[in-house]
Formats: sequence, C-alpha cells, structure tokens
Amino acid sequence: AAKQKVCIIGSGNWGSAIAKIVGRNAARLPNFEDTVTMWVFEEMIEGKKLTEIINETHENVKYLPGHKLPENVVAIPEVVDAARDADILIFVVPHQFVRKICSSLLGQIKPTAAALSLIKGFDIAEGGGIDLISHIITRHLKIPCAVLMGANIASEVAEEKFCETTIGCRDALLAPVLRDLIQTDEFRVVVVDDEDAVEICGALKNIVAVGAGFVDGLGFGDNTKAAVIRLGLMEMIKFVDVFYPGSKLSTFFESCGVADLITTCYGGRNRRVAEAFVKTGRSIKELEDELLNGQKLQGPITAEEVNHMLANKNMEDKFPLFTAVYLICKGDKPPSEFINCIRSHPEHM
Ligand code: NAD
Ligand code: 13P
Ligand code: CA
Repeated sequence: AAKQKVCIIGSGNWGSAIAKIVGRNAARLPNFEDTVTMWVFEEMIEGKKLTEIINETHENVKYLPGHKLPENVVAIPEVVDAARDADILIFVVPHQFVRKICSSLLGQIKPTAAALSLIKGFDIAEGGGIDLISHIITRHLKIPCAVLMGANIASEVAEEKFCETTIGCRDALLAPVLRDLIQTDEFRVVVVDDEDAVEICGALKNIVAVGAGFVDGLGFGDNTKAAVIRLGLMEMIKFVDVFYPGSKLSTFFESCGVADLITTCYGGRNRRVAEAFVKTGRSIKELEDELLNGQKLQGPITAEEVNHMLANKNMEDKFPLFTAVYLICKGDKPPSEFINCIRSHPEHM
C-alpha cells in the first residue's frame, strides 16, 4: 500500500509539541511518508518570516522556543499547499479559527483523507445550539474526523515527561493508524470509540479551569479548588447526558476527563489568566495578549458558546459553574461572587 502522507494544520504551542512527536513517528514508521507538512499562520519575527525560521532552524521560536522539531517537518504558509496531498490531516488551531480554515480547504484536499482534531472548543450553531469542532470539519470537508484530547500541557509533552492521552475514534481501521502515528514511550494513547464525549470533555474542562483560576485569584485553597474541579466534572457529565445522550460514563475516567481537568486546573493557561484577571481587575483580552505572547485562551469563549445554548434552552440554573464563569468573564458579575454562585449547587440538593 502507498505510504500515508501527514499534514499538521496549526503550529502554536500544542501544534508544535505534537509536530515533534508526529514528525519523529512518521520518519520512523514505514507506512507513513517521512515528510510531514505543517501549516504555519505566517507572521514576521524580527523582520523574518516564521516559516523560514522554522525551516532553517527547526525551532518554532515564538510558540515552542527551546525545542527542535524533526527536520522532516516542513513549515508551509499556505494551508492548501500544506494539505493538498495529505491522507491524514491533524487539526490543531485555536478553535475560533477552524471555520475559516475549512472554507479555504473546501474542495482542495483528497476526498479519501481522514482528520484528527486536537482542538478544544465548540462553535455556535444555527437554531440556538452548539456544534462540535470535529462535526464542523466533517460537515465542511466531507471527511471523517476522530479526536485526541488528554492531560497534555504542551510544554511538558515537548519535554517528553510521561503522560497519557485519549483518542476518540469509531473507525476500527483508522484507530490503530492514528495511535501508531501519535504514540511514543512517553506519550501513551488509549483509544475509545466514544468520540463525542472525548471531545466535549476537552472543550468543557477549559471552562472549569477558568473557575479554578478564579479561586486561586481570590485566595482560596486546595479544598476549594477540589470542589470546583468536582462540581465542574459533575456539570460536564450532566452536559453530555442531556445534550449528547448515549455517551459512556467511563470516558470521564480517561485522560481526556478527570486527568485533563486536574492538570489544566493546576498548570494551564486558562487558570493562569483567570487568576490574573481576579488579581488585577484588567480585561481577559488584555491579559491574554500580555501574558501569552500570541497563544490563545479557549475557556472564556467556550463559556460563551456553552451559555448561548444553555440560555436558549433555559438551563442556565442547571449548570451554575459554567454560567458563573461566563458571567464573570463577561463582566456581568464580580469574581468575588463566584463562590456564591456555586454554594447551592444542584449537586448539594
Ligand atoms: P496557541 O494557543 O499557541 O495559539 C497560537 C496559534 O494560533 C499560533 O500558531 C498562531 O499562528 C495561530 N493564529 C493566530 N491568529 C490566527 C488566525 N487568525 N488564523 C489562524 N491561526 C492563527 O495554539 P495551541 O496551543 O497549539 O492550541 C491549539 C488547540 O489545542 C486549542 O484548542 C487548545 O485548547 C488545544 N490544546 C492546547 C494545549 C496546550 O498546552 N497548549 C494542550 C492540549 C490542547
Ligand atoms: P490551557 O489552554 O488552559 O493551557 O490547557 C491546556 C490543555 O488543554 C492541557 O491538556
Ligand atoms: Ca516513514
């Protein structure tokens, strides 16, 4: 059989960390073409194009400084050029950019290609609901889309510190191909077939992480944060139960569930910016720009997307933690009200 060509769409903090793994595996394994293309949203760094810097120094100096990418990973500034011949498309961009990328790719990729989404977030759907990012990719590009989510803070993965991840894939032929492309001795993959729940876990935990940052900023301790993590988990389970029935409870015990909640609520960017938001009183947008050097927050906009649906369905009071995070980020409630919002949680009734 012909060797499979792999393209990574995105080259931020996580995109670059995963490029390190995928580049090495594609070179090592005989069933993948050695060269991996990586779409880079072009920008100038001290007068030089980021794609040129990556191709010359094999380092993404802006989004993953201090790590060498394998030399078979080639940075390309035009998304269609990067994706045209690929059999496997790995989507890893901040979720707000996915629609535009899909419209550029429409009709320009192999009809037999398959996608893997590493993107944590939702999109607003017509009619008051939300869409999963993998469903948007499938609907726009007419290709199947599996997902990968887990307790995977990019810098730690790049440093090759042992962790686990979850691939959600219903296609029994594609699943082992994706696992082989992603797995290393330090990055262990568990495949489950519960695609939607895996993806929803990855999106929703970012809202909980913003709540964890609030309690840090307000000066509470680890008990309080544990309560936020638990109540957040219960809302995640309820959300899947109400809106995506048929998913499995066991999925929440995979890396994409509790494990990702824990790591993000202690070590993530959403947590860090939310803490600074409480301590400084400045806007989330300002702090994102100032603290993250171009990296993007997913939690606050995910809270807004989720609220769009909860408000439409008159269900905000069933999800007080998600709702409080949304209202506080938006400035409609002061952060000091956060605990009051979850004090009489439905879980306590
Ligand atoms: P990031 O937060 O580093 O975002 C920066 C990237 O966005 C850069 O590549 C930049 O070029 C790009 N970008 C900026 N403006 C753009 C535009 N207008 N159009 C297209 N791209 C643009 O990105 P990331 O960390 O790779 O995150 C991607 C996804 O992976 C997110 O959904 C995130 O939640 C998820 N994720 C991140 C981590 C992590 O630790 N960083 C871990 C797991 C999952
Ligand atoms: P943050 O975006 O909050 O850093 O979370 C990263 C992540 O998803 C770790 O799995
Ligand atoms: Ca190879």
